[in-house]
Amino acid sequence: MNYQVDEKGFYGDFGGAFIPEMLYPNIEELRLNYLKITAEPSFKKEFMDLLVDYVGRPTPLYFAKRLSEKYKTKIYLKREDLCHTGAHKINNTIGQILIAKRLGKTRIIAETGAGQHGVATATVCALMGLECIIYMGEVDIKRQAPNVARMKMLGAEVRPATSGSKTLKDATNEAIRDWINNPENTYYIIGSVVGPHPYPDMVARFQAVISEEIKAQLEEKEGTEFPDYVIACVGGGSNAAGAFYHFLEDEKVQLIAVEAAGKGVDSGESAATSILGKIGIIHGSKTLLMQSSDGQITEPYSISAGLDYPGVGPLHSHLHQTNRAEFIAITDDEAMQSGWEVSQTEGIIPAIETAHVFSVLDKKQFKPTDIVVINLSGRGDKDLSTYIDYFNLH
Ligand SMILES: *Cc1c(COP(=O)(O)O)cnc(C)c1O
Repeated sequence: MNYQVDEKGFYGDFGGAFIPEMLYPNIEELRLNYLKITAEPSFKKEFMDLLVDYVGRPTPLYFAKRLSEKYKTKIYLKREDLCHTGAHKINNTIGQILIAKRLGKTRIIAETGAGQHGVATATVCALMGLECIIYMGEVDIKRQAPNVARMKMLGAEVRPATSGSKTLKDATNEAIRDWINNPENTYYIIGSVVGPHPYPDMVARFQAVISEEIKAQLEEKEGTEFPDYVIACVGGGSNAAGAFYHFLEDEKVQLIAVEAAGKGVDSGESAATSILGKIGIIHGSKTLLMQSSDGQITEPYSISAGLDYPGVGPLHSHLHQTNRAEFIAITDDEAMQSGWEVSQTEGIIPAIETAHVFSVLDKKQFKPTDIVVINLSGRGDKDLSTYIDYFNLH
């Protein structure tokens, strides 16, 4: 089995670049240059230096002793929550802004839903002194005031998307419109392993530093590079792609992708794309997509804004179709209970996205000798008001 993208940008049946003709020059410029640029020694050095000194990599691989005792297996946490800005997203924005600079671009645009990708993009624009415009749905701007303030503090302009449901999908449409109108000087930083080829492959490669580090750290701690399980949550799929990347070809490593069931897979308020989705096209990519029988995109729902996406990256659709990864859906309530448990068992408050992953420990039986690596994609500071309301911590 092959899990790498092919020449045309497909993972099996999924992927490709289904874009309006006016976007073709921008995407083609990127497609023809991304592998060349990222292979240059000067690029590799600048990327690695920033990951080390600015992001704080390598992030620790932490043996979670109390959690391991409770679940009678060996649980390691990959601490992406300790990255600068609090999640894995910065690995990707650093990589893409270095590409933008080498393509001679001076203006950066991005879409954001909850604001996490917007903050990670605004951060690297401040770092590089580049103009930054973040498109965000009007509804999300109201819901996510602290992240809007962060982006402004970092020097970004936040432009409201006022069409449709005024959320992520509409912000993405605005960003694409901007890119079509400004093809010469503008670079579009996409926030996950989604969008037209080459974005899914490019973002996966930037996030692959996660599994590269896991291998070296496990070798040191356990005398093997290979865990029995790697578990990660999937919104668009970038932290999971990074945690899986260097294990994809090693079938003895079992991969588990965790999706948000929201209020339940059959409740009509869910984001469990692999179960509810059918093949369709979203944001330039052929992939599993939640849609009505006449092909209208269904509004997804999850308590965690980062998992609230109606599609999933094409790599993950392929991993699902080929059964290379097992997909498990976790409800809001299960995730919130796990967030509570991890906080009190390990002293780590996880992002609600990440909290979903820990619920798998209640669903699956692991052997005492199993090495289970959980990708702790982000910290829960941003979710405190949701935790406060849910557990009545006033
Ligand atoms: C954005 C986000 C996610 C979901 O995005 P992926 O591309 O699927 O990784 C998961 N966890 C955290 C902490 C996030 O901020």
